[in-house]
Amino acid sequence: MISKRASEFTSFIVMDVMAKAEELERKGEHIIHMEVGEPDFPTPKIISNAAIEALQNNKTRYTHALGLLELRQAICDYYKKEYCVSITPDQVLISTGTSPVLLFAMLAILDSGDEVIISNPRYPCYQNFILAAGGKINEIRTYPEEGFQYRHQDIARGLTDRTKAILINSPCNPTGIVMTREQLQDIAQFDSQYIISDEIYHGLVYKGKAHSILEFTDKAFVINGFSKLYAMTGWRLGYLIFPKEFSTVMQRIHQNFMISANGFIQWAGIAALTQAKADVDVMISTYDERRRYMLSRLTDMGFTLHVEPTGAFYVFADGRKFFKDSYKEAFKITEEAKVGVTPGIDFGSGGEGFLRFSYATSLENIKEGLDRLERYLTRRR
Ligand code: PMP
Repeated sequence: MISKRASEFTSFIVMDVMAKAEELERKGEHIIHMEVGEPDFPTPKIISNAAIEALQNNKTRYTHALGLLELRQAICDYYKKEYCVSITPDQVLISTGTSPVLLFAMLAILDSGDEVIISNPRYPCYQNFILAAGGKINEIRTYPEEGFQYRHQDIARGLTDRTKAILINSPCNPTGIVMTREQLQDIAQFDSQYIISDEIYHGLVYKGKAHSILEFTDKAFVINGFSKLYAMTGWRLGYLIFPKEFSTVMQRIHQNFMISANGFIQWAGIAALTQAKADVDVMISTYDERRRYMLSRLTDMGFTLHVEPTGAFYVFADGRKFFKDSYKEAFKITEEAKVGVTPGIDFGSGGEGFLRFSYATSLENIKEGLDRLERYLTRRR
């Protein structure tokens, strides 16, 4: 018998779209993939070479349960340089991606029945980490005209004596929207609860700068990693920054469940943080060129973009004037226009009527994909 808890886990709807796209490809169709949320760039050589060197130097053992001290120190230096915040290596846990650290953060703060506030729409995995740790989700609706940001009064109303944390994600998947300093400051006022801040898209910002929640409160768990900014999804490397008093428990959790993150890959992480800036800058300007192109084409086609997305590599476009059911529409677009897109409903009921387009694919593909979409929309009018 599958446990009640495990049977409550939801799946990514986008995977169904991808499966459909792959089925069509096997039949010989050509599909443009704008549904996928991972960089199309290869990992910068300077990072790969650091891993090769570490392997050749036999860095193939377990490391400290919290991670290599050198990498944890590099993360502290990085947060100091980028955000002027002071953290110490005993506040950093390195693991195999940001996904596991999300789970570990939940395990560290939630007792059975404790609540975490999440927005609707949001990244679809969040709820499952909370459920896995025995917690409950408290969904707060956010609205497109407000860039899908929490309203202060809605959080205030949503707090209960079981609320342990408020989860935020900026730059955001799926919306691509970057929270302002004022919005982060406002959330930080609720620091009688913990703020869990998913900062995995930090660095991928095309106007202004993203602020870390740590600039505004210490009562925060920051989730970050290497998958997106350094094009390292398959390497599985991420980290958690946590309040000092959690140091021993985090170490214990990681010792038991993971022992440590991969040894030689952590050396590649140091190279990413300290030597890959030139490579990252090229990726950022390329993403920005694609972003601007995509925004103008989608607007011309009649999609509404309520607030300009200036981060991550997603555009969350309001297609309510074309369709109501984003799930059905995403499949129709995949089958008829031969373009993979992610239905907004994947991110919760608040995303219904929207489609997420990823620009983590070449400008050439984006042009072709949007041409196909435009022809499809013209046909259905
Ligand atoms: N958070 C968000 C918002 C994401 O989009 C992703 C990846 N899709 C993750 C966390 C997990 O990233 P990883 O485990 O590769 O570090």
